[in-house]
Amino acid sequence: VKLSDIFPWGRAKPARPEPTIEELLARLARQRRTAWLPRTADGPTGLAGSKFGGLPLLASGEPWPACGNCRRPMQLFLQLNGEELPAELELPLPGRVVQLFYCTSQKPCCEADCEAWDGRGVSMRLRLIDARTPPQPLTASPVANAFPEKRIEGWEPVDDFPNAEDAEGAGETLDEIEQEMLSNAGYPREKDKLAGWPSWVQSVNYPACPECERAMRPLFQVDSHDNLPYMFGDAGVLHLFLCPQHPERLGMNWDCA
Ligand SMILES: [Zn+2]
Ligand SMILES: [Zn+2]
Repeated sequence: VKLSDIFPWGRAKPARPEPTIEELLARLARQRRTAWLPRTADGPTGLAGSKFGGLPLLASGEPWPACGNCRRPMQLFLQLNGEELPAELELPLPGRVVQLFYCTSQKPCCEADCEAWDGRGVSMRLRLIDARTPPQPLTASPVANAFPEKRIEGWEPVDDFPNAEDAEGAGETLDEIEQEMLSNAGYPREKDKLAGWPSWVQSVNYPACPECERAMRPLFQVDSHDNLPYMFGDAGVLHLFLCPQHPERLGMNWDCA
């Protein structure tokens, strides 16, 4: 009789065999989502078109959205026209345009003063505007050092998978080796993308919809220095969120290391 048969807790645990990345992704099939990468080009599109930077759709006579801290006009960071988003996503945005304005003033540092990473301060504005709004015929931006317009010409669908914390929330536990494999394979995807799984820098942080209190869904991810010439803190990542039941209630936050 071997001692280890009497005291089985003394035996080394059999190591869980390491899966291949294909096996791991197959196991996560239920958590797979499609993310859509924007295909961008330098230069302007129509005022209601999807874009990073440049000129927004504003109603006639409406002032350019100004920062509530420094009072200066804010940069247009992102504009998404609901008609130009992939139909497969079934987003509740037809006839609507999503706009994110954000103050990039350093003196004062509005982002820090207003804790813009929370998505609630007055140095940013996230809103929906009716796509049929007769546009204000803008030809130049009043923003100092306005970001040049980068139009979004289309979307490329790609597979996306959650990080360990999101996977856990979706009912799948990943051990450390599996987490590392997934991250080495590039999941969740970094860079700018529509939908998919957020590439959180820190913890999972879905805002609750103020109407129904349910966690909002990822709408768009803006990474530092991808399409926008801007860095959120130390290489941070900004996330926009949407409640499918209350699309007029958009959410936003960003995090960094
Ligand atoms: Zn400001
Ligand atoms: Zn809601």
